[in-house]
Amino acid sequence: MSGSLAAAIGFPVAHSLSPRLHEFWLRELGIAGAYIPLAVAPEDFSRVIDGQCRAGFAGVNVTLPHKRAAYALAHSVDKIARKTCAANLLVFQSDGTIHARNTDVDGLCASLTEEIGADRIHGGDMVVLGAGGAARAAVLALDLLGARCIRILNRDSGRAAKLATSLESAVSAELTALPCSEWKAAASSTILLVNATSGGMAGSQPLDISPEPLPTSAAVYDLVYNPLETELVKQSRRRGLRAANGLGMLMHQAVPAFEAFFGVKPQVSSALRAHLEAALRT
Ligand code: NAP
Repeated sequence: MSGSLAAAIGFPVAHSLSPRLHEFWLRELGIAGAYIPLAVAPEDFSRVIDGQCRAGFAGVNVTLPHKRAAYALAHSVDKIARKTCAANLLVFQSDGTIHARNTDVDGLCASLTEEIGADRIHGGDMVVLGAGGAARAAVLALDLLGARCIRILNRDSGRAAKLATSLESAVSAELTALPCSEWKAAASSTILLVNATSGGMAGSQPLDISPEPLPTSAAVYDLVYNPLETELVKQSRRRGLRAANGLGMLMHQAVPAFEAFFGVKPQVSSALRAHLEAALRT
């Protein structure tokens, strides 16, 4: 292995739970590695990556606003990174090249399967809220899980239309973009609502979408996990709908990163979830 040092790079990065998550696994598995948070401004990104590569880091996780820059500077990319034009994991290889991966899609697939159930998604009609990188990952994950139809709704409906057009050839599901004013009409046949916006996140404006018009058999998955129970999740549970936050996605997307950095595949466990929930409550 090329090293036992890794980092999370973002701007800002102080809010990131990734260091706590990787430190938990390092301790649990008795590995003498280190995982550090690094705040890096966009103009410094490629220089910092180059320096880390030379300094013997095993690789880095990349978060906002660097996911596209990470994809662009890599020498090779995996299939999902190519579909999303974004990478959340850079692996520094022994020949000096950088391999970019996007583990968000598989992370979301694993979490949806665990918490919502793949049977519910297969052949069903979905709504994805948002039109940024997370919404792109959500559409790809739902398509991989066999969704029949995915409707993308975003505050800025032009962005939703652009996202649908850019993904059309990459997915098998029927894709449409709708303005948020169509939510009530779309909700009646929706089996899963995925919030991939930052609406409802601590420090952001609340989401202007209620789960009220969803059928009682529907489920809700909110990629936001801070707060642990967003208004959307709270209202959905009050209605008796199955609802989950994005902590599962966060934990699952980190598994391949940890394995690439430290050479051991870690487990997503209830102890890890409790550890992260405790960190979010303080
Ligand atoms: P992004 O590219 O900045 O996109 C933000 C999206 O949220 C846009 O579609 C924006 O709509 C929408 N939005 C923001 N505030 C809103 C509000 N108050 N009401 C309705 N829509 C709102 O961000 P991103 O990378 O896609 O991330 C989106 C969210 O997913 C973030 O909260 C992020 O933390 C979360 N996420 C979670 C995980 C996980 O592991 N659980 C992984 C990745 C991302 P407009 O286009 O109209 O501005």
